Amino acid sequence: ARVTGHGRIARYKQAQERLLRERARLTDALRQALKRSELSLYYQPIHDIRTGHLRYAEALVRWNSPEHGPIPPDTFVPLAETAGFAEDMGLHILGRLHRDRSDWLEAGVVPPPVAVNLSAMQFVREGAKAAFLDRLETLGLTPDAMQVELTERAAFEEVDAADSILNSLREQGYELALDDFGTGYSSLSYLHRIRCSKIKIDRSFVRDMDRNEGARKLVKAIVDVAHAFGIRTVAEGVETERELDVLRSLGCDFAQGYLLGRPMAAAAFLQLISAEQAR
Ligand code: C2E
Ligand code: CA
Ligand code: CA
Ligand code: CA
Repeated sequence: ARVTGHGRIARYKQAQERLLRERARLTDALRQALKRSELSLYYQPIHDIRTGHLRYAEALVRWNSPEHGPIPPDTFVPLAETAGFAEDMGLHILGRLHRDRSDWLEAGVVPPPVAVNLSAMQFVREGAKAAFLDRLETLGLTPDAMQVELTERAAFEEVDAADSILNSLREQGYELALDDFGTGYSSLSYLHRIRCSKIKIDRSFVRDMDRNEGARKLVKAIVDVAHAFGIRTVAEGVETERELDVLRSLGCDFAQGYLLGRPMAAAAFLQLISAEQAR
């Protein structure tokens, strides 16, 4: 038994080392990708539930690595954060948004506001906040063009960095949505502290609403509390008409999900908004 135990530890160590090497290679590739501007943004429409109209969009970062293929943001965003280039990536994303918007404007459409996901890790360096605000100004990304989303978890863990940038953005008129609401440490007092204008109800609650009375009650409670604070609610991951109907009956304000539109490349999003504006 002792021999097998040793064997197992050796195999475990090998696997561990392989994993670390893999991470290091991916991190290097990501550093290169930023230099070569390989990251792009996909845009997913967000609709007003009552009118059914497209009201704004969320920008979701994409990385299609020539060597590694498409890597999901859930994998490479944390990698950028631990490797210390979350700030670079965040600024890079602003540049992308600016270029895509310029293309849309040139095509003659009025682009809807786009919500960008922020990582609190983008703002830990002294001077990072100033650099970010400066970039917004240089690129002309004003509050009618851009909004921000920050996960509840990030806002909680990096309290100082998050508070500082959120306060500045709010003062300048940018709308803030608290992302993944209900999955983290949220308490109601916290909602009050953050002073967001929207909260995004996590997909896990929306998905369970059909089958689970508890999930439906939870969504209703979140919507009611938010409204009591003057905060609007966005349901994430809406995939069926039935979910949309329930959300409408609960008074949820906005919906986002595959039912209404998948995240799409900038050119496809241009087609979508052109069609909307022609109607
Ligand atoms: P998130 O901000 O909660 O984004 C919503 C995720 O749900 C996106 O995954 C989106 O593609 C997916 N989604 C939307 N509708 C549906 C649906 O109906 N069904 C299902 N199953 N999924 C749906 P994605 O694009 O893989 O992004 C994952 C996470 O990565 C995001 O979660 C966000 O936390 C992070 N992320 C994405 N883009 C950025 C970025 O530019 N910066 C930062 N810091 N983080 C980002
Ligand atoms: Ca988000
Ligand atoms: Ca979310
Ligand atoms: Ca989510």
